[in-house]
Amino acid sequence: MRRPAARSRAIGGRASPRPSGDRPSEFRSAGGHTCPPVDWPALVAAARAAAAHSYSPYSHYAVGAALLAADGAVFSGCNVENASYGLTNCAERTALFKAVSEGRREFAALAIVGGTARSPALPCGACRQALAEFCPPSMPVAVAPLRRGEPVVRPLGDYLPFSFELSR
Ligand SMILES: [Zn+2]
Repeated sequence: MRRPAARSRAIGGRASPRPSGDRPSEFRSAGGHTCPPVDWPALVAAARAAAAHSYSPYSHYAVGAALLAADGAVFSGCNVENASYGLTNCAERTALFKAVSEGRREFAALAIVGGTARSPALPCGACRQALAEFCPPSMPVAVAPLRRGEPVVRPLGDYLPFSFELSR
């Protein structure tokens, strides 16, 4: 599937949106669908609530994610670790798989919380590819510290500019 190139601006027509003071604005998906306004404080709060359920007895590194579907539903997730390490599932994929398994395939925004203001949790490579399967490169992704602090918003395409794609 061919997708348009990532836009340099994530939301609101500004190069470096500051979501805390932004009023929610509509977002148009790559498929031309108008998505609901992004209420960043609420989406970050949902991600923080999900992080409270993190199962991370090995790393002690809690991560939460909240994925806003095009229909306005929010799917949250946390990281779920495993004694075999390799079976660990990240918060972003937990949220994404929950949403897809409940019938959603179009998304408007994602918030991720983890780490500190100095070193917030960024999505890993596996999650970036999994998100690219369903989310347009223009979809805004907010990254915020686990507890307090402002999110930084970038389009998904900035995280994964050359995703793997198969023609369908
Ligand atoms: Zn990940």
